[in-house]
Amino acid sequence: MKVAPVNLLGMSRSKMQVLFKELGEPSYRAQQVMKWIHHAGVDDFKLMSNLGKNLREHLSRVAEVRAPRIAGHQISTDGTRKWAIRVAGGGLIETVLIPDGRRATLCVSSQVGCSLDCSFCATGKQGFQQNLSAAEIIGQLWLALKACDAFQNGKGRKITNVVMMGMGEPLLNFDNVVDAMDLMLDDLAYGLSRRRVTLSTSGVVPALDRLAGRSQVSLAISLHAPNDSLRNELVPLNRKYPIEMLLASARNYIESQTDRNRVVSIEYTLLAGVNDQPRQALELAQLLQSYPCKINLIPFNPFSGSGYRRPSGNAVSRFWKILVDAGLRVTVRTTRGDDIDAACGQLVGQVRDRPRRSERHGLAGTVPVVALG
Ligand code: SAH
Ligand code: SF4
Repeated sequence: MKVAPVNLLGMSRSKMQVLFKELGEPSYRAQQVMKWIHHAGVDDFKLMSNLGKNLREHLSRVAEVRAPRIAGHQISTDGTRKWAIRVAGGGLIETVLIPDGRRATLCVSSQVGCSLDCSFCATGKQGFQQNLSAAEIIGQLWLALKACDAFQNGKGRKITNVVMMGMGEPLLNFDNVVDAMDLMLDDLAYGLSRRRVTLSTSGVVPALDRLAGRSQVSLAISLHAPNDSLRNELVPLNRKYPIEMLLASARNYIESQTDRNRVVSIEYTLLAGVNDQPRQALELAQLLQSYPCKINLIPFNPFSGSGYRRPSGNAVSRFWKILVDAGLRVTVRTTRGDDIDAACGQLVGQVRDRPRRSERHGLAGTVPVVALG
């Protein structure tokens, strides 16, 4: 029986070293192969010129470097790019690249769909289909760098930040997400600073507890409400892991980090008439008064049938001001790429030839933040 080749794309350094040991090769060979894959963007063993011919042939028989396939691509008038990517089993995910001055942030998906069913999220409305493999997660970064001609020696735009804010709940795909994030930080792979890789979660507390001490990435919590009764409605997972428990777990996570002065990003999607009222801003200010955080306000990105509306600019400013006056650090996320349905909002995994303005789907929680005022 023919054994399926092992995909090296999603292998963390430790797993790669174990594999090369099993192949009877010294560990520096694993390092050389990692550099070819992640520094040079090479997926063909024949091109890995500093490996011996025998090893190259052996690897070609037992291993592969296989990224998922790009099924569609759109570019916004503001430079935001969105790729629809086909993963194993046929599902589609979306990945968005947001250029912003010298920064370029890639928003990466972790699952096809999501089981957590937050009331304002189109990915949640899809239901859960499957977890992505580590190769499919890191493959989004690999494909985006290739598409931008940005691998080492390439002249294209470098990706400076990654946020796990695409489709899915990353902490419900723990092992694969952690392996992929390890590669994002590893010097033998993408070498991104721990402050430039962010995991966003709606609050899977046991998994967040497990992440503490295991990972050094930055943390964003999707809060969206200042109290449990409202959060129970918006984020059903809150019934299992209420706000107090979640905030304690997030604090524990940042306290477990090696570099000090880290803070939790609090994501708060503003829904008109639901959670954007001055009394709710006051309640939020009180809740987070002495909490080590910065708050990120995300005006809701509508999609058809959501039943929610985006608040007016005035309502957003009013909410922002109450928090700032209470001494909190607050930014408002700008909408990017909405002409190609890649604005901060929700991804649903579709391939489209032309942008559709009337029915805006976007990406869950994309990135650039600017201070209002
Ligand atoms: N599952 C994770 C990460 C993906 S969602 C999480 O929930 O954190 C990324 C962010 O986008 C979250 O803060 C999410 O609440 C937000 N989001 C989802 N749908 C949105 C919408 N329609 N408009 C604005 N933000 C949205
Ligand atoms: Fe899942 Fe995040 Fe969407 Fe909630 S907001 S349904 S956790 S992807």
